[in-house]
Amino acid sequence: MSDINVQLKGGATAQIAGPVTVGEALKKLDRDAAKQALAARVNGQEVDLTYQLEGQNGEALNIEPVLPATLEGLDVLRHSTAHLLAAAVLDLFPGTKLGIGPALLDDPRYGFFYDVITPAPLTESDLPIIEKRMRQIASRNLAYRREEIPKLEAIRIFQERDEPLKCQLIQEKGSDIVSVYYIDGSPFIDFCLGPHVPNTNKLRAFKLLSLAGAYWMGEASQPQMQRIYGTAFFSQEELDAWLKQREEAEKRDHRRLGRELDLFSIQEAYGQGLVFWHPKGAAVRQQMEDYLREELIRRNYSLVYTPHIAKRELWKISGHEENYADSMFAPTKLEETEFRLKPMNCPFHIGIYKSQQRSYRDLPQRYGEMGTVYRGELSGTLHGLMRVRGFTVDDAHLFCTPDQVRAEIDDCVDFATQVLKTFGFEKIKFELSVRGQDTNKKWLGAPEDWAKAEAQLAEALESKGIPYERIEGEGAFYGPKIDFKVEDAIGRLWQLGTVQWDFNLPERFELEYIGEDNKPHRPVMVHRALFGSIERFFGVLIEHYAGAFPFWLAPVQVAVLPITDRINDYATSVASNLRQQGLRVELNLHSDKIGAKIRDAQLQKVPFMLVVGDREAEQGTVAVRERSKGDIGVMTLAAFSEMARELVKTRALNNMLESRVESPESGNERS
Ligand SMILES: [Zn+2]
Ligand SMILES: [Zn+2]
Repeated sequence: MSDINVQLKGGATAQIAGPVTVGEALKKLDRDAAKQALAARVNGQEVDLTYQLEGQNGEALNIEPVLPATLEGLDVLRHSTAHLLAAAVLDLFPGTKLGIGPALLDDPRYGFFYDVITPAPLTESDLPIIEKRMRQIASRNLAYRREEIPKLEAIRIFQERDEPLKCQLIQEKGSDIVSVYYIDGSPFIDFCLGPHVPNTNKLRAFKLLSLAGAYWMGEASQPQMQRIYGTAFFSQEELDAWLKQREEAEKRDHRRLGRELDLFSIQEAYGQGLVFWHPKGAAVRQQMEDYLREELIRRNYSLVYTPHIAKRELWKISGHEENYADSMFAPTKLEETEFRLKPMNCPFHIGIYKSQQRSYRDLPQRYGEMGTVYRGELSGTLHGLMRVRGFTVDDAHLFCTPDQVRAEIDDCVDFATQVLKTFGFEKIKFELSVRGQDTNKKWLGAPEDWAKAEAQLAEALESKGIPYERIEGEGAFYGPKIDFKVEDAIGRLWQLGTVQWDFNLPERFELEYIGEDNKPHRPVMVHRALFGSIERFFGVLIEHYAGAFPFWLAPVQVAVLPITDRINDYATSVASNLRQQGLRVELNLHSDKIGAKIRDAQLQKVPFMLVVGDREAEQGTVAVRERSKGDIGVMTLAAFSEMARELVKTRALNNMLESRVESPESGNERS
């Protein structure tokens, strides 16, 4: 029996008599780490703790534990819990067909899922039953056991178990020898690379969350499955904290608030993923767009409008047919010509650029449009306003000379910062996604051009002292980009707009400008969006403010509430006075008691309620209630409207102007 040399990554070494598992070797190197480890890495490769070490001619094997409280550890934990889920489902519902069950680390809503087809469809009420069975299995401390077997043998096993989807997976993904995992003592086997936790005892803090529809392989033509979502953490405390935040998020769920505040709807009868902006939602959108248009004009953009469909040929030139067809609606034919709905606005702005010869003196050309696009998202991936099939991008394309790009990028970064702060996002995270070293990815454009472009994007951020994260290998295939993420009121990150350099489209469309040398040159094209999708941005805003928008954005800014019918004339004149000044006012002349009227306005999260009775009518005043502060005193109508106009003009995030109201802590209203 030969000795095996092992070394803990960056630490102790040992010589151990073989055969030995990595778990046992780890015990010799670091007892504490061995106790905590969920899996390990041997010379960089992730393996189970039961992995048998093999000597390498005396060369030391580099061993590293995969520990809790790391991303890799969480991945192993959640992935193993997904197996536990499948084991429980199989145990409860024999005959279930299994799909895939990965860990989710980036999704703020879930931690893992497993796709299943059970003999009878599952309902939400099955989740606690499945979870209970998971706990029972976990407490039996069953081992995760790996076996390596010939591919044909694996297919035979899964055929015998009547698991056609697994057979297909092994057929497509397996090499000659494949690994399968058992949870010993449960009916579960999976075709999987691993690694997993050594036994089910390691799984203590998990919870099943919801059910959704899914297609096998994510394709609508494939069998329909049910996706069971859950999450798992290392400790009950972590899970509890996360569930609490999730509960908070549910209270703010834009789908629920959208209904309660009558902001928008998505109607099955018209089609999934298609958004109806109701009058109140539309009022908010109008403010969003008006603000943006004002700012676009200030920054010398040209506003344009373009069609929603174009000839199929165009999408061939742009490369969308080749690279993006799955996300587009199918072609439609008129006479002999085929058309397709636009998934992006870029080729249309190119059409405007190309409509005449451009000289270097004409550049930069900056075209901005609230451009509505359509994408063929599968029904299972749709989510309220966050993921839809038709949406509007606050899109812009900048065409400039290479010398001008830096200044344009600078302005984009500045513009984005200003816009996001105006909407109340104080914490903005910038990410610079670059080409990186990954040679498997197909990158367009010469490496030296990439280097130059990446440097200019980085300089634009650095010159403003903006911290950013550089992400290798995550650039778009056609160029590097800066992405903006914002943190909302409960600490969740949302990806919004982007500034992208494009080496591709100017080539494909043979864009030119005549330079100072009188020769044609290729312009640089920059795509940029600040909200990203207006629908999605609205969804984020609803959740950020929990529906209580700041005054300038609020769908109804002021509710005028007469105490009795006697005051209706005065109340009507107050409302019309404020409307004349451009404010959005609702007048409640119902014969309800004043308490009911206030409660109603409060539920609608109207920023200011003006309560008027005999005395107010006599004196030309209003008694002002603020939605979170309650009564703030009596003011003349003129003083109130002056304050209101000031709040709109400054796009204040706080409903109070400090100077006017003697409140000890007029804190920020966002909550
Ligand atoms: Zn697995
Ligand atoms: Zn574009």
